[in-house]
Amino acid sequence: MVAPFTFQAHIPRTIFGSGTLAKVPEEVNRLGAKRVMIVTENTDRQIDLANKISASLGDLVAGVCLDAVMHTPEEVTLKALEQAKSLNADCYISLGGGSTVGLGKALTIRTGVPHITIPTTYAGSEATPILGETVNNLKTTRSDPKILPTTIIYDVDLTLSLPAQLTFTSGINAIAHCVEALYSPQINPIIEGVALSGISNMYKALLTLKDSPNDIDARSQALSGAWAAGVCLGHVGMAIHHKLCHTLGGSFGLPHAQVHTVVLPHAMAYNFNAAHAAMEKIRVAIGSDIDAPQAFWQLEKTLGTVISLKELGMKEEDLPKAADIASTAQYPNPAPLEREKLLLLLENAYAGRPPV
Ligand code: NAD
Repeated sequence: MVAPFTFQAHIPRTIFGSGTLAKVPEEVNRLGAKRVMIVTENTDRQIDLANKISASLGDLVAGVCLDAVMHTPEEVTLKALEQAKSLNADCYISLGGGSTVGLGKALTIRTGVPHITIPTTYAGSEATPILGETVNNLKTTRSDPKILPTTIIYDVDLTLSLPAQLTFTSGINAIAHCVEALYSPQINPIIEGVALSGISNMYKALLTLKDSPNDIDARSQALSGAWAAGVCLGHVGMAIHHKLCHTLGGSFGLPHAQVHTVVLPHAMAYNFNAAHAAMEKIRVAIGSDIDAPQAFWQLEKTLGTVISLKELGMKEEDLPKAADIASTAQYPNPAPLEREKLLLLLENAYAGRPPV
């Protein structure tokens, strides 16, 4: 029997394809915008792309903000806000990974100005009404439909430059959103289908990209998996995996996509018995003969990703504190949250041992 559910879809207008950067002027005109502020990072690559967009928009560009950094610090947002006000911006175009998308969202929630986002990683933030912001070194997260970008433009070509390890860890970050959606209490048949297609597409794409990083079909498959992942994250609640990653990233400063990569097989093993039906669907979706947590562990070994918190700079003496934080917060999770078991999970993840 299908479990009862309540569902309200919130998905931005989405343009997907190769060469879709050329559609930016059309989308800006559709919004009637006349004073666009482009928001991106201060790197040569992003500046080149911002210049390309500026050239295509001509007089419609009022200015470019190059301040996007990790974790959306409030002071950076306030500075960008000043710039947006002085430019009288009536549309933001964010161009980059989850960090840049976050700055675009932080501006929109403060001004109500529409936001076109052009994601260049697989983080999935572009499809969610969620915003994480850092104030006084503390990262807090809020959700509001007004945070959701107006339009997403996915251009597969922009992902060709993702280095191999960023491709893999960002892709596994996306898979994690789909995995936890499958055992969320808010799951429904639509999100289940989206989650399974996201897992299957990303899993297959990463294996192809290992040997052929410029395979445009695999890049396209991976980016569609990222969209699916963002849609999952934006519609149903997440569980232990995301809580642990939020703790390890927020309180111990570990890098986002890499932490997701290290933790995922362990979090899945933690929930394996309690969420057995979901784990079986995942196993079938990726066509594996072995259990889903072990299959992802094997995937990471094959891709040569990071597999230990130690490699990411975690201190062993901080593991009990991380277990305390993750076990005290109350949130739905298939398996009960037991501090000693969470500590064991963290110790295994720290040492790079296989998931148990
Ligand atoms: P990121 O945006 O910090 O980018 C990581 C690195 O990749 C940067 O150095 C960037 O310059 C580089 N990069 C980006 N695109 C590239 C490309 N195409 N080619 C080469 N290099 C490229 O990291 P991320 O993992 O994309 O995002 C992480 C952030 O997003 C975290 O702060 C996380 O909390 C947030 N996030 C938020 C949500 C949400 O729903 N609110 C969802 C997922 C992630």
